[in-house]
Amino acid sequence: MTQKSLIINNLEFAKNQLELSDSLVTAQLPRLAEILTNHENTQVQFQLSGTGKQFRQPSLHLNIKANLAVTCQRCLDEMLISLNLNFDYLISSTEISEAEENDEIDWLEASHEMDVSELIEDELLLALPIAPIHAHDCSKLNTQSGDNPNPFAVLKGFIK
Ligand SMILES: [Zn+2]
Repeated sequence: MTQKSLIINNLEFAKNQLELSDSLVTAQLPRLAEILTNHENTQVQFQLSGTGKQFRQPSLHLNIKANLAVTCQRCLDEMLISLNLNFDYLISSTEISEAEENDEIDWLEASHEMDVSELIEDELLLALPIAPIHAHDCSKLNTQSGDNPNPFAVLKGFIK
């Protein structure tokens, strides 16, 4: 597999309001792949847009969509976590002041060579629960029979 180059000049990208829509597979994100049960070919879709005018400074908006399979820490079966994440970053060579910083916007250091896949991997790692557990009482599923429940059948129960 060839590693896609996703290196951007983040300040120019923001100023010129460029757009980048692409997808990665989790095999390209080794730190993330380590904690997934299906770590080779899960698609991670993303969209990065420069939004120069939305904030006072050049900024980036990042959307990440992925369905990641992890191991439930209670029943040890697979569980899928659906993520649809949105981030806004101010691009600046100096750290933004506390007054500017808030829950909705993060700061990214201006860089000629920012690795987008690394940023995506960092955000996914932060978004995943440290100890994922099925939302429903999963221990019953395992004691009802010797068979492991089909993870997709389990998942169906969560989609209402
Ligand atoms: Zn479980």
